Amino acid sequence: MQVEDRIGAAIYNSGIPLFGIAKPVRPAHFDQYLAWLSAGGHADMAYLSQPGAISKRRDPSTLMENVKSILVFGFPYPHHLNEIPPPEHGAWGQLASYSACRDYHTLIPALLEKIIPELLDISGGSFHYRIFTDSAPILERDIAQAAGLGWTGKNGCLISPLHGSFFFLAEMFCDLDLQPSPGFNAGYCGSCRRCIEACPTGCIQENYTMDAGRCISYLTIENKGCIPPSLRDAVGSKVFGCDICQQVCPWNQKPSNHLPLNEFSEEKLPAWIDLHQTIRLTQEQFKVKYKDYPVMRTKRSGFLRNAAVAIGNACQPESVFPLKTLLENEPEILVRSHAAWALGKIATRQATEILRQHQLVEPDADVQEEIRLALARM
Ligand code: SF4
Ligand code: SF4
Repeated sequence: MQVEDRIGAAIYNSGIPLFGIAKPVRPAHFDQYLAWLSAGGHADMAYLSQPGAISKRRDPSTLMENVKSILVFGFPYPHHLNEIPPPEHGAWGQLASYSACRDYHTLIPALLEKIIPELLDISGGSFHYRIFTDSAPILERDIAQAAGLGWTGKNGCLISPLHGSFFFLAEMFCDLDLQPSPGFNAGYCGSCRRCIEACPTGCIQENYTMDAGRCISYLTIENKGCIPPSLRDAVGSKVFGCDICQQVCPWNQKPSNHLPLNEFSEEKLPAWIDLHQTIRLTQEQFKVKYKDYPVMRTKRSGFLRNAAVAIGNACQPESVFPLKTLLENEPEILVRSHAAWALGKIATRQATEILRQHQLVEPDADVQEEIRLALARM
């Protein structure tokens, strides 16, 4: 058996269903990526346009000395295609499916380390490597496409014809000179527009690019500031990421033959989280509850900001008092601003009175402005 086949067999036997080999060369869509950056598609994710990051994305060989090949892996994760209804009472928020699993940034390297002894054996005892899971400036979907795992769909996700798109990507750069796998030269979205039509904020463009600044995943995770008022309604009940453009994709409708590895199902967070409890979390409680989950990325202030928006969108009169407590006691300006907006959305007499009373004592100009706008809308 060829070395490439032996490596592939070892990986499949370890339960990883998606695997391919690419070479560390300039990614095929690098120029389109540059054009997207130039057009400002990356919103305020300034780290994407730093010269050092751009040159590493242009030339992946700079990420490891003597790299000869890139092993690319796909790890399916548990997800649901149909909306699970929220509990009947209260205000509830949804996490993107991937973020309900323990953090893949730590889980996946540990899983890949388990196959290293076998790779060492296959390579005759000399195998140097570096593992990346969304942890270095790499155009990883392009590299995965070159390795034959799938193509990048209009929704920006890598789509495998056999497994759909609900999977994590990871790369192992190594110094073995391997034959690359047959890549994906074409995509199979065809004339489909389902993701474009379903996206609540209209951020998916026809030309396979995305206005990241409008995407709910960006707004609720990467975005460190306010969620623009014009987009808050569209965020709905999402408090961390969004699955909609994957849920509607025809390539995700048939079940994959491969179940996610058990590690991704262990200690999974529930499909809906209680937003009244969420906005009461102290910094310490937030850390304890989410320390092993991707939710940590948005930090407590971002998460409570998102929860306040989702509470406003749920529009339950019983949310007025939890929001009052938040508006009066929360030290973070970002969170108080969004709590004021949420009270304005609920717009009961009590909510109005709370905003008027707080207007008299609120020290911050941004929160004052949110209160003014909320009262003007009522
Ligand atoms: S993740 Fe949600 S908001 Fe972002 S492109 Fe997909 S459907 Fe639109
Ligand atoms: S929903 Fe349709 S257009 Fe969008 S990624 Fe899937 S196949 Fe492509």
